[in-house]
Amino acid sequence: MKREELLEQRDELELPDTAGLSRRDALKLMGISPVAASVLASTAPAASAEAVDVKGKILIVGGGSGAIMALARLHRAISDPDITIIAPNEIHLYQPGQIFMAAGLYTHEDIVKPNSDFIPDDVTWIKDEVASFDPDNNRVTTRGGEEVAYDYLVVATGIVCHYDAIKGLTEDDIGTHGISSVYLNNPEAGTAKGGEITWEWFNDLKAAAKNGKPKVIYTQPNTPIKCGGAPQKILYLSADYLKKEGLSADYAFTTSFPNLFFLKPIADALGEAQKRYDSITNYFSHHLESIDVEGKVATYIHAYDEEVYDEDFDTYETVSKSDRIEMPYDFIHIVPPMSPPDAVVNSPLAGGDGWLEVDKYTLQHPRFPNVFGIGDVCGIPMGKTGGSARHHGPVLQDNLLAVMQGKTPKEKFDGYTVCPLKTEYGEIIMAEFNYEGFAPTIPFLAPEKPRVMWWYFDVYMLKPMYWYLMLRGLM
Ligand SMILES: Cc1cc2nc3c(=O)[nH]c(=O)nc-3n(C[C@H](O)[C@H](O)[C@H](O)COP(=O)(O)OP(=O)(O)OC[C@H]3O[C@@H](n4cnc5c(N)ncnc54)[C@H](O)[C@@H]3O)c2cc1C
Repeated sequence: MKREELLEQRDELELPDTAGLSRRDALKLMGISPVAASVLASTAPAASAEAVDVKGKILIVGGGSGAIMALARLHRAISDPDITIIAPNEIHLYQPGQIFMAAGLYTHEDIVKPNSDFIPDDVTWIKDEVASFDPDNNRVTTRGGEEVAYDYLVVATGIVCHYDAIKGLTEDDIGTHGISSVYLNNPEAGTAKGGEITWEWFNDLKAAAKNGKPKVIYTQPNTPIKCGGAPQKILYLSADYLKKEGLSADYAFTTSFPNLFFLKPIADALGEAQKRYDSITNYFSHHLESIDVEGKVATYIHAYDEEVYDEDFDTYETVSKSDRIEMPYDFIHIVPPMSPPDAVVNSPLAGGDGWLEVDKYTLQHPRFPNVFGIGDVCGIPMGKTGGSARHHGPVLQDNLLAVMQGKTPKEKFDGYTVCPLKTEYGEIIMAEFNYEGFAPTIPFLAPEKPRVMWWYFDVYMLKPMYWYLMLRGLM
């Protein structure tokens, strides 16, 4: 199907039948979203009201959500700021919108803006990448060979996808042979091909389902990923896209993890949501090892424990085992393993696992106190979401200013992470949690319940809030 025809279908999807809402109802719901927006704004720690007179050269590395949020806050909070940003990307991507691109609701134009909209003129912008960090000497070197010195460093390089960590697969295979991946984007080039390719994949899948029941696999890797809910969002949205036409497929959700979600009430709710669709089979603890692109076969390592009888001691003991399993498919949606960029992994700033080493509360580096992290690159147990970066922002601002004033950082990030799980066109489970457990923005709403309200909030409100409030450090 041609791209233009696919875009025409968008209008039909915009107000989903499944929500059972007229356009008028939707507008009423939109009317309550500013309430939700103000509640959200009130949950983030407030920015300091008055600009502080502190001195020092601040270097921010990265040009995505975390970097721009940090820049906006520090630029406003310091009376005469001396800030340099090293970011290769002229274009800023609203990455959560890639899911709605995949679902046919947004286009590429809907999720991009020039980064220059967010970088003030008095900030030095070096359009390059950092190749190496030298925190012992307070300087970095760019790919172009420029050495940049700093007094204070904010690392915000995000996370990178490793398609080639799956044997037999290359990035070029995405969009061919029934393979898709919503994550395929290139921040430097300002493109989000994954969203476009996955929308075409939804439609190829629908065409195939008209002639039978295609076998469709959805994968989740064993590394931390940005937006941990995305693998299931694509599963449910594509299944619902077919269901609207009375079609179905043989769906397999394969994950390296032992459950659908680490919080049981959310896992149970997702299990309930799966019953809406014919034949979803979950394969837990299945790690995608390789792909035969031409032959359309995925090979997994399935790890499990088995109780084995020990004759000598007349007892049972638990033995860890693993099998290699081949799964043929017609279509596959791949979420690749992810890690920080090499420049971070190979630097003295990395912890033993390669992630940026920071205190999980203060976001300060434990060995280099003039270094802070924000966003996905941080080696902390939670928070690889834009919503987390929003909550990192005020903590980073106050703690960096404290260090610049010779004080001890006191603000604490609580682990806030948000995962808007799209269970169908028109419903979202808004999973919000922190280091302690559930952390719902609206405490009297059960967090595990799928709600139409969150769908409209996510589709219509979150994007303007991102561009006009979050990236400007106003919430
Ligand atoms: C498909 C998808 C769906 C998502 N859905 C949601 C959602 O619903 N809700 C939510 O809250 N979050 C969601 N996210 C996650 C969210 O987009 C990220 O968590 C957020 O963008 C993290 O911000 P960041 O600054 O850490 O990284 P990014 O925004 O990715 O920015 C990283 C930046 O660093 C730059 N960079 C990389 N290496 C270097 C280097 N060596 N030198 C200089 N610059 C460098 C890159 O060019 C880029 O500009 C989603 C993400 C995806 C991909």
